Amino acid sequence: MTTWNDLQQTQPRVVPFMIKSLEKDRLSHAYIFAGESGTGKREIALQLTKSYFCRERNGAEPCGHCVDCKRIEKGNHPDVHIVEPDGASIKKHQVEFLQKEFTYRGMESSHKIYMITEADKMTASAANSLLKFLEEPESPTLAILLTERESSLLPTVRSRSQQISFQPLSKSVFAEKLQELGVSRMHSLVLAEITTNLDHANLLNEAEWIAQARSVVIQLMGELYLRPNQVLLTLQDKWLPLSKEKVHQEAGLDMILLWLRDLLYIQTGKSDTLVFPDQQDQYEQLALSISQQQNVEHLSGVLEAKRHLKANMNYQLVMEKLLLSIQGV
Ligand SMILES: [Zn+2]
Repeated sequence: MTTWNDLQQTQPRVVPFMIKSLEKDRLSHAYIFAGESGTGKREIALQLTKSYFCRERNGAEPCGHCVDCKRIEKGNHPDVHIVEPDGASIKKHQVEFLQKEFTYRGMESSHKIYMITEADKMTASAANSLLKFLEEPESPTLAILLTERESSLLPTVRSRSQQISFQPLSKSVFAEKLQELGVSRMHSLVLAEITTNLDHANLLNEAEWIAQARSVVIQLMGELYLRPNQVLLTLQDKWLPLSKEKVHQEAGLDMILLWLRDLLYIQTGKSDTLVFPDQQDQYEQLALSISQQQNVEHLSGVLEAKRHLKANMNYQLVMEKLLLSIQGV
Protein backbone atom coordinates (compact mmCIF):
# COMPACT_ATOMS: atom_id res chain seq x y z
CA MET A 1 0.00 0.00 0.00
CA THR A 2 1.24 3.50 -0.83
CA THR A 3 2.04 5.69 2.18
CA TRP A 4 2.37 9.45 2.41
CA ASN A 5 6.03 8.81 3.04
CA ASP A 6 6.39 7.06 -0.35
CA LEU A 7 4.68 9.97 -2.07
CA GLN A 8 6.90 12.48 -0.36
CA GLN A 9 9.83 11.34 -2.49
CA THR A 10 7.91 12.43 -5.57
CA GLN A 11 6.55 15.68 -4.16
CA PRO A 12 8.70 16.80 -1.21
CA ARG A 13 6.84 20.10 -0.81
CA VAL A 14 3.22 19.17 -1.55
CA VAL A 15 3.06 16.09 0.67
CA PRO A 16 4.11 17.69 4.00
CA PHE A 17 1.60 20.44 3.33
CA MET A 18 -1.23 17.96 2.75
CA ILE A 19 -0.21 15.94 5.83
CA LYS A 20 -0.28 19.06 7.97
CA SER A 21 -3.70 20.08 6.64
CA LEU A 22 -5.06 16.62 7.42
CA GLU A 23 -3.55 16.49 10.88
CA LYS A 24 -4.85 19.92 11.79
CA ASP A 25 -8.19 19.19 10.15
CA ARG A 26 -7.83 22.24 7.96
CA LEU A 27 -8.58 20.93 4.51
CA SER A 28 -9.80 23.41 1.95
CA HIS A 29 -13.17 22.64 0.28
CA ALA A 30 -11.55 22.69 -3.18
CA TYR A 31 -8.04 22.09 -4.47
CA ILE A 32 -6.43 22.51 -7.84
CA PHE A 33 -3.54 20.09 -8.26
CA ALA A 34 -1.49 21.64 -11.06
CA GLY A 35 1.61 20.11 -12.61
CA GLU A 36 3.03 18.20 -15.55
CA SER A 37 2.10 14.68 -16.51
CA GLY A 38 3.73 12.15 -14.18
CA THR A 39 4.19 14.43 -11.16
CA GLY A 40 1.91 12.31 -8.96
CA LYS A 41 -1.24 14.45 -8.94
CA ARG A 42 -3.60 11.51 -9.19
CA GLU A 43 -1.73 9.34 -6.68
CA ILE A 44 -1.72 12.14 -4.13
CA ALA A 45 -5.41 12.91 -4.77
CA LEU A 46 -6.23 9.24 -4.12
CA GLN A 47 -4.17 9.18 -0.95
CA LEU A 48 -5.93 12.32 0.23
CA THR A 49 -9.26 10.65 -0.50
CA LYS A 50 -8.29 7.64 1.60
CA SER A 51 -7.11 9.81 4.48
CA TYR A 52 -10.35 11.79 4.27
CA PHE A 53 -12.59 8.74 4.60
CA CYS A 54 -10.45 6.22 6.52
CA ARG A 55 -12.04 5.01 9.74
CA GLU A 56 -8.79 3.99 11.37
CA ARG A 57 -6.50 6.77 10.33
CA ASN A 58 -3.23 7.12 12.17
CA GLY A 59 -2.26 10.78 12.06
CA ALA A 60 -2.59 11.59 8.36
CA GLU A 61 -1.90 8.00 7.28
CA PRO A 62 -4.85 5.92 6.05
CA CYS A 63 -4.96 2.35 7.38
CA GLY A 64 -5.35 0.69 3.98
CA HIS A 65 -7.61 -2.11 5.24
CA CYS A 66 -10.88 -0.57 6.45
CA VAL A 67 -13.98 -0.69 4.22
CA ASP A 68 -13.45 2.87 3.02
CA CYS A 69 -9.77 2.44 2.16
CA LYS A 70 -10.51 -0.77 0.28
CA ARG A 71 -13.40 0.70 -1.66
CA ILE A 72 -11.34 3.72 -2.70
CA GLU A 73 -8.50 1.43 -3.76
CA LYS A 74 -10.93 -0.57 -5.90
CA GLY A 75 -12.56 2.56 -7.30
CA ASN A 76 -16.06 1.80 -6.02
CA HIS A 77 -16.55 4.05 -3.01
CA PRO A 78 -20.10 5.46 -3.15
CA ASP A 79 -19.02 8.92 -2.00
CA VAL A 80 -16.04 9.32 -4.29
CA HIS A 81 -16.63 10.40 -7.87
CA ILE A 82 -14.07 10.79 -10.60
CA VAL A 83 -14.98 12.79 -13.68
CA GLU A 84 -12.81 12.31 -16.75
CA PRO A 85 -13.05 13.84 -20.24
CA ASP A 86 -15.72 12.28 -22.42
CA GLY A 87 -13.83 12.41 -25.73
CA ALA A 88 -12.03 15.71 -26.10
CA SER A 89 -13.81 17.60 -23.34
CA ILE A 90 -15.64 17.43 -20.03
CA LYS A 91 -19.21 18.36 -20.80
CA LYS A 92 -21.92 20.11 -18.89
CA HIS A 93 -24.03 16.97 -18.51
CA GLN A 94 -21.14 15.23 -16.74
CA VAL A 95 -20.98 17.97 -14.11
CA GLU A 96 -24.77 17.97 -13.79
CA PHE A 97 -24.78 14.20 -13.34
CA LEU A 98 -22.23 14.60 -10.55
CA GLN A 99 -24.42 17.19 -8.84
CA LYS A 100 -27.49 14.94 -9.06
CA GLU A 101 -25.59 11.97 -7.70
CA PHE A 102 -24.39 14.04 -4.78
CA THR A 103 -27.85 15.38 -3.99
CA TYR A 104 -29.30 11.88 -4.06
CA ARG A 105 -26.45 10.35 -2.14
CA GLY A 106 -26.74 13.13 0.42
CA MET A 107 -29.28 10.94 2.17
CA GLU A 108 -26.78 8.18 2.76
CA SER A 109 -23.68 9.86 4.07
CA SER A 110 -22.41 13.20 5.11
CA HIS A 111 -19.11 13.63 3.26
CA LYS A 112 -18.18 13.47 -0.39
CA ILE A 113 -15.21 13.88 -2.66
CA TYR A 114 -15.12 14.47 -6.36
CA MET A 115 -12.07 14.54 -8.52
CA ILE A 116 -12.04 16.10 -11.99
CA THR A 117 -9.08 14.94 -14.05
CA GLU A 118 -7.82 17.16 -16.89
CA ALA A 119 -10.06 19.88 -15.46
CA ASP A 120 -8.84 22.36 -18.10
CA LYS A 121 -10.87 20.34 -20.62
CA MET A 122 -14.17 21.45 -19.10
CA THR A 123 -16.29 23.29 -21.62
CA ALA A 124 -17.31 26.81 -20.57
CA SER A 125 -20.79 25.62 -19.69
CA ALA A 126 -19.44 22.69 -17.67
CA ALA A 127 -17.13 25.04 -15.77
CA ASN A 128 -19.97 27.46 -15.10
CA SER A 129 -22.12 24.71 -13.78
CA LEU A 130 -19.28 23.57 -11.57
CA LEU A 131 -18.94 27.07 -10.15
CA LYS A 132 -22.27 26.95 -8.36
CA PHE A 133 -21.37 23.58 -7.03
CA LEU A 134 -18.03 24.82 -5.72
CA GLU A 135 -19.85 27.59 -3.88
CA GLU A 136 -22.90 25.80 -2.52
CA PRO A 137 -22.34 22.09 -2.07
CA GLU A 138 -25.30 20.27 -0.53
CA SER A 139 -23.14 18.53 2.04
CA PRO A 140 -19.50 18.73 3.18
CA THR A 141 -17.62 18.20 -0.05
CA LEU A 142 -14.01 18.13 -1.08
CA ALA A 143 -13.27 18.92 -4.72
CA ILE A 144 -9.93 18.06 -6.32
CA LEU A 145 -9.32 19.38 -9.82
CA LEU A 146 -6.28 17.99 -11.63
CA THR A 147 -4.68 19.87 -14.49
CA GLU A 148 -1.52 20.23 -16.53
CA ARG A 149 -2.65 23.64 -17.75
CA GLU A 150 -3.80 25.64 -14.80
CA SER A 151 -3.93 28.87 -16.78
CA SER A 152 -6.66 27.37 -19.00
CA LEU A 153 -9.06 27.07 -16.05
CA LEU A 154 -11.66 29.79 -15.65
CA PRO A 155 -10.36 32.50 -13.28
CA THR A 156 -13.58 32.14 -11.29
CA VAL A 157 -12.88 28.42 -10.75
CA ARG A 158 -9.31 29.20 -9.75
CA SER A 159 -10.31 31.88 -7.28
CA ARG A 160 -12.63 29.48 -5.47
CA SER A 161 -9.98 26.79 -5.03
CA GLN A 162 -6.65 26.43 -3.33
CA GLN A 163 -3.84 25.97 -5.87
CA ILE A 164 -1.23 23.33 -5.18
CA SER A 165 1.76 23.36 -7.55
CA PHE A 166 3.32 20.01 -8.32
CA GLN A 167 7.02 20.37 -9.13
CA PRO A 168 8.66 18.39 -11.95
CA LEU A 169 10.26 15.21 -10.63
CA SER A 170 14.00 15.01 -10.08
CA LYS A 171 15.77 13.00 -12.81
CA SER A 172 16.61 10.13 -10.47
CA VAL A 173 13.08 9.86 -9.07
CA PHE A 174 11.65 10.04 -12.59
CA ALA A 175 14.02 7.30 -13.82
CA GLU A 176 12.88 5.08 -10.93
CA LYS A 177 9.26 5.81 -11.76
CA LEU A 178 9.86 4.78 -15.38
CA GLN A 179 11.46 1.55 -14.18
CA GLU A 180 8.41 0.84 -12.02
CA LEU A 181 6.36 1.25 -15.20
CA GLY A 182 8.47 -1.39 -16.92
CA VAL A 183 11.09 0.68 -18.76
CA SER A 184 14.58 -0.85 -18.53
CA ARG A 185 17.13 0.94 -16.37
CA MET A 186 19.35 1.66 -19.38
CA HIS A 187 16.57 3.43 -21.28
CA SER A 188 15.10 5.12 -18.22
CA LEU A 189 18.44 6.89 -17.62
CA VAL A 190 18.38 8.39 -21.11
CA LEU A 191 14.68 9.32 -20.99
CA ALA A 192 15.00 11.02 -17.60
CA GLU A 193 17.80 13.21 -18.97
CA ILE A 194 15.67 14.30 -21.91
CA THR A 195 12.43 14.91 -20.02
CA THR A 196 10.69 14.46 -16.67
CA ASN A 197 7.24 14.71 -18.24
CA LEU A 198 5.61 11.29 -18.35
CA ASP A 199 3.62 11.92 -21.56
CA HIS A 200 6.77 13.10 -23.33
CA ALA A 201 8.72 10.07 -22.08
CA ASN A 202 5.93 7.71 -23.18
CA LEU A 203 5.95 9.29 -26.62
CA LEU A 204 9.70 8.73 -26.95
CA ASN A 205 9.32 5.16 -25.72
CA GLU A 206 6.55 4.37 -28.21
CA ALA A 207 7.35 1.51 -30.60
CA GLU A 208 10.71 1.16 -28.82
CA TRP A 209 11.95 4.36 -30.42
CA ILE A 210 14.29 5.16 -27.54
CA ALA A 211 15.94 1.73 -27.77
CA GLN A 212 16.54 2.05 -31.50
CA ALA A 213 17.64 5.67 -31.29
CA ARG A 214 20.03 4.92 -28.46
CA SER A 215 21.82 2.24 -30.42
CA VAL A 216 22.03 4.36 -33.59
CA VAL A 217 23.41 7.33 -31.63
CA ILE A 218 26.10 5.05 -30.19
CA GLN A 219 26.91 3.76 -33.66
CA LEU A 220 26.94 7.24 -35.19
CA MET A 221 29.18 8.73 -32.52
CA GLY A 222 31.60 5.80 -32.59
CA GLU A 223 31.90 6.08 -36.37
CA LEU A 224 32.37 9.81 -36.17
CA TYR A 225 35.68 9.27 -34.39
CA LEU A 226 36.76 5.85 -35.65
CA ARG A 227 35.27 5.31 -39.13
CA PRO A 228 34.52 8.82 -40.43
CA ASN A 229 33.70 7.64 -43.97
CA GLN A 230 30.69 5.74 -42.66
CA VAL A 231 29.02 8.58 -40.81
CA LEU A 232 26.96 10.22 -43.54
CA LEU A 233 25.74 6.80 -44.71
CA THR A 234 24.60 5.86 -41.23
CA LEU A 235 22.93 9.24 -40.92
CA GLN A 236 21.08 8.65 -44.17
CA ASP A 237 20.18 4.99 -43.71
CA LYS A 238 19.58 4.69 -40.01
CA TRP A 239 19.26 8.02 -38.31
CA LEU A 240 17.03 10.07 -40.60
CA PRO A 241 14.36 7.34 -40.86
CA LEU A 242 14.10 7.45 -37.05
CA SER A 243 13.92 11.24 -36.98
CA LYS A 244 10.87 12.24 -38.99
CA GLU A 245 9.05 13.96 -36.15
CA LYS A 246 10.37 17.07 -34.47
CA VAL A 247 10.02 15.48 -31.04
CA HIS A 248 12.42 12.74 -32.20
CA GLN A 249 14.79 15.19 -33.89
CA GLU A 250 15.09 17.18 -30.67
CA ALA A 251 15.53 14.08 -28.53
CA GLY A 252 18.18 12.80 -30.96
CA LEU A 253 20.26 15.95 -30.52
CA ASP A 254 19.81 15.65 -26.76
CA MET A 255 21.17 12.11 -26.92
CA ILE A 256 24.23 13.22 -28.88
CA LEU A 257 24.76 15.91 -26.25
CA LEU A 258 24.49 13.29 -23.49
CA TRP A 259 26.94 11.02 -25.28
CA LEU A 260 29.49 13.85 -25.54
CA ARG A 261 28.87 14.83 -21.93
CA ASP A 262 29.59 11.25 -20.88
CA LEU A 263 32.89 11.46 -22.72
CA LEU A 264 33.66 14.69 -20.86
CA TYR A 265 32.75 12.97 -17.57
CA ILE A 266 35.27 10.24 -18.34
CA GLN A 267 37.89 12.88 -19.13
CA THR A 268 37.21 14.60 -15.81
CA GLY A 269 37.03 11.43 -13.71
CA LYS A 270 33.27 11.30 -13.12
CA SER A 271 32.60 7.87 -14.56
CA ASP A 272 29.87 7.08 -12.01
CA THR A 273 27.44 9.53 -13.61
CA LEU A 274 27.33 8.15 -17.16
CA VAL A 275 24.04 8.12 -19.06
CA PHE A 276 25.40 5.44 -21.41
CA PRO A 277 27.27 3.33 -18.82
CA ASP A 278 27.73 0.42 -21.24
CA GLN A 279 29.92 2.69 -23.40
CA GLN A 280 32.57 3.27 -20.75
CA ASP A 281 35.25 1.20 -22.55
CA GLN A 282 34.68 3.05 -25.80
CA TYR A 283 34.78 6.41 -24.02
CA GLU A 284 38.02 5.55 -22.28
CA GLN A 285 39.61 4.63 -25.58
CA LEU A 286 38.39 7.83 -27.28
CA ALA A 287 39.36 10.00 -24.32
CA LEU A 288 42.98 9.29 -25.19
CA SER A 289 42.75 10.86 -28.65
CA ILE A 290 40.35 13.78 -28.04
CA SER A 291 41.22 16.70 -25.80
CA GLN A 292 38.76 18.15 -23.30
CA GLN A 293 38.93 21.41 -25.22
CA GLN A 294 37.89 19.66 -28.47
CA ASN A 295 35.09 17.92 -26.64
CA VAL A 296 33.76 21.17 -25.22
CA GLU A 297 33.73 22.62 -28.75
CA HIS A 298 31.78 19.60 -29.95
CA LEU A 299 29.27 20.12 -27.16
CA SER A 300 28.75 23.74 -28.15
CA GLY A 301 28.30 22.54 -31.74
CA VAL A 302 25.34 20.44 -30.58
CA LEU A 303 23.85 23.40 -28.73
CA GLU A 304 24.11 25.41 -31.92
CA ALA A 305 22.42 22.59 -33.85
CA LYS A 306 19.59 22.63 -31.30
CA ARG A 307 19.14 26.36 -31.90
CA HIS A 308 19.09 25.84 -35.67
CA LEU A 309 16.47 23.11 -35.30
CA LYS A 310 14.34 25.39 -33.15
CA ALA A 311 14.61 28.01 -35.86
CA ASN A 312 13.19 25.40 -38.28
CA MET A 313 16.32 24.81 -40.31
CA ASN A 314 16.15 21.62 -42.40
CA TYR A 315 16.98 18.71 -40.11
CA GLN A 316 19.24 16.82 -42.51
CA LEU A 317 21.31 19.96 -43.04
CA VAL A 318 21.52 20.59 -39.31
CA MET A 319 22.77 17.04 -38.73
CA GLU A 320 25.27 17.04 -41.60
CA LYS A 321 26.69 20.36 -40.50
CA LEU A 322 27.00 19.14 -36.92
CA LEU A 323 28.67 15.83 -37.79
CA LEU A 324 31.10 17.42 -40.21
CA SER A 325 32.00 20.14 -37.73
CA ILE A 326 32.78 17.53 -35.07
CA GLN A 327 34.98 15.67 -37.56
CA GLY A 328 36.72 18.89 -38.60
CA VAL A 329 37.69 20.07 -35.14
ZN1 LIG B 1 -8.70 2.95 6.34
